[in-house]
Amino acid sequence: MRDESCIFCKIANGEIPSATVYEDEDFRVILDLGPASKGHALILPKNHFKDVCGLDQETAGKVLTLGAKIGTAMKKSLGCTGFNLVQNNGESAGQTVFHFHMHVIPRYEGGPAMVGWTPGKADPDELAATAEQIKGAL
Ligand code: 5GP
Ligand code: ZN
Repeated sequence: MRDESCIFCKIANGEIPSATVYEDEDFRVILDLGPASKGHALILPKNHFKDVCGLDQETAGKVLTLGAKIGTAMKKSLGCTGFNLVQNNGESAGQTVFHFHMHVIPRYEGGPAMVGWTPGKADPDELAATAEQIKGAL
């Protein structure tokens, strides 16, 4: 399950060198070339999935566990005190490489704000109507 034109397929499978922090049969974890903070890593499955919607259940289950493992190692080794697991799906969500990946972003005390949003307002009727819309599509 590879896409010959996909750069993350090539990196995940070792055809293009990368700063690798972890590798097993299913995944390679590399450092991001444009890090949001020191240690910013990307979990790449070796198989090609466009985004989270394509992932099989087994791979999906392993990704979060691996995210926790990498984040824990970052806290021990880099001195960060937290980390974000971030995963973008679709251009409007900020996805730029269309091979599923999970960002593991170390967070340091006093570091810049990241991964935030301005809370909006919604009344209970609107929330109920929106919940029905989503439920109807499940
Ligand atoms: P997205 O915006 O799709 O969630 O994240 C793509 C990420 O991949 C970006 O943070 C970007 O810096 C990183 N990236 C893009 N191309 C390469 C590459 O060739 N090597 C590495 N290590 N990171 C890359
Ligand atoms: Zn790919």
